[in-house]
Amino acid sequence: MRLLRPVSVLVSVAVVTVLALLSAAAPPRMLVFGMLALGPALAATSSNPSAVLLVGGYALATAFTISTWQGLLGTLDQFLRLVVVVTITVISWAVARHHRALARGQAGAAREREMLVAFAEQSADAIIVSRLDGVVTSWNGGAERLYGYTADEVIGSRFAKVIPPERRHALDQALAELADGRQIRLDETRRICRDGSERVVSVTVSPIRDELGNVVAAAATERDITDQKLAAERSARAARLESLGQLAGGVAHDFNNLLAIILNYADFLADEITPDGADDLARIRDAADRARSLTGQLLLFAKREPTEVEIVDLNDSITCSGELLSRSIGANIRMVCRTHSHPLPVRANRGRLDQILLNLVINARDAMPDGGVVVIETSRAGAQARLTVSDTGTGMTPEVRDRLFEPFFTTKPADRGTGLGLATVYGIVGDAGGTIGVDSTLGIGTTFEILLPLVSEPATAPAECLETGPAHGHGERIAVIEDEDYVRDLVIRILREHGYRTTALSEENLAASTLDDASLLITDIVLRGRPGPALADDLRDRHPGLRVLFMSGYSDAELRRRYDIGDATRIVQKPFTAVELLAAVDEALSTPPAVGSAPGSSAQPGPSP
Ligand code: ADP
Ligand code: MG
Repeated sequence: MRLLRPVSVLVSVAVVTVLALLSAAAPPRMLVFGMLALGPALAATSSNPSAVLLVGGYALATAFTISTWQGLLGTLDQFLRLVVVVTITVISWAVARHHRALARGQAGAAREREMLVAFAEQSADAIIVSRLDGVVTSWNGGAERLYGYTADEVIGSRFAKVIPPERRHALDQALAELADGRQIRLDETRRICRDGSERVVSVTVSPIRDELGNVVAAAATERDITDQKLAAERSARAARLESLGQLAGGVAHDFNNLLAIILNYADFLADEITPDGADDLARIRDAADRARSLTGQLLLFAKREPTEVEIVDLNDSITCSGELLSRSIGANIRMVCRTHSHPLPVRANRGRLDQILLNLVINARDAMPDGGVVVIETSRAGAQARLTVSDTGTGMTPEVRDRLFEPFFTTKPADRGTGLGLATVYGIVGDAGGTIGVDSTLGIGTTFEILLPLVSEPATAPAECLETGPAHGHGERIAVIEDEDYVRDLVIRILREHGYRTTALSEENLAASTLDDASLLITDIVLRGRPGPALADDLRDRHPGLRVLFMSGYSDAELRRRYDIGDATRIVQKPFTAVELLAAVDEALSTPPAVGSAPGSSAQPGPSP
């Protein structure tokens, strides 16, 4: 086009010149002469109006010169000849202008189309055009990237390739709807990629019409929403777990209060009962004990932060609870413990490590109704400590394995399984920065593998787990604040029976009471009125050096945060047995009064008189 313009202008000029020479040589024939106007007409093909005017001017000048030379100056003949040239020039100029506008419009449209094609090509979404019989005619780069098929592989064949077999029947229906001019929107549908993997996409398909308004094709935009959907599912799951945890924690807390009463009154009765009744009582105690361990599990599941983390040698923890477990696991099951030859220090809570092992071993036992072997083994795996628990039990199906760690998922009868065991283990391992994996074969057995990060500090020595007899008081006075009557009575009774003197306090009589001889305050944390820590602060203002022991049925870490209770201050978890309460009291009395363990107490002067 660029080259064509100067060429056509040159040709026009040449034509004008040749015709001028011809008509000069020949007698003055109107026809040949008139052909001078051919020049501007030819120039019009350049679509350049200025060129037309240029050639027209040249033709007019030549026509004037020749006709004058032929002696026609001033005649009507000369005038008519010049009018012909001018007229044709003007018409050609108009034509050239029109052509130019048209060409410019076309170039703009072509550029726009090119941009659209590039845009569609680069779009992250799959943009696919198909005929109304479903045969693909266009397949952009987004579609290649998303589905793994190149345009060459797909264009010319039916779109059905990426639609899952069970949804293919819907394709014809969709095409029929499109033919009727309707748009189709699918918020979420599945697609099969070339490698067989599945993606979830959102789809919009619009009919494409020709100039007459007839639907001739369909254009689909398909967006990959797989990751988005997974993320949404994950956060919904986390939210579900969270609320489940809260619910479980709340229920467990209330149960704990009741269980404390049942267990302790059962203990009181034991001293007063006939041997016959003792059997029944033992059953009651047994059931209450089971309920206690269940609520304990619920609370453990509910509270996610680790409490009292220390450096524990994984080997010690296995040896200690392993021995205990092997005694209670059943005669037909052999338990083998193999510990690593070197210490495996990990940062964890001792009680929670025991909980992991307990859950895994109990599950192993349940999976081996006819007996078998369970192997507990510790080893080192790079920078991690590894704990594996393997059994020769029933194994599990892939469906069970997929849901294993879900809270409340169990395959056991209602009176045996809670479905909380592995959910709790999962939580504990996660909190400790570790991972848990499972390998299971139906009919062969199951291996759980837990990896915990090793730390460089040496482990602290394990606490003696020997049960010592309950501590006894020597007439120390202990003040008790607890708004649950039964629990308060219980605490007071336990304390009195073991050599302490007690004073029951409440928010109302707090100001009036004199506590000069009290060495310890035991208070519930969550009370109906002001919380225990606030009451304790008030009392310590008046009695500097008063030791404080908190009790609560709520999650430890949560409470410490909410009431700003330091780690130095002990919290007895409800439900407690007499032994546990007395041990806590003994410990609280034998430590110097806590200064700075709770807000307000930091300003207190030194130890009590
Ligand atoms: P529960 O023991 O109360 O059923 P868990 O969370 O401990 O709850 O376990 C969930 C389920 O996982 C069990 O019901 C059982 O089907 C399966 N499971 C766990 N451990 C094993 C194992 N060692 N062998 C076979 N199945 C197991
Ligand atoms: Mg279990």
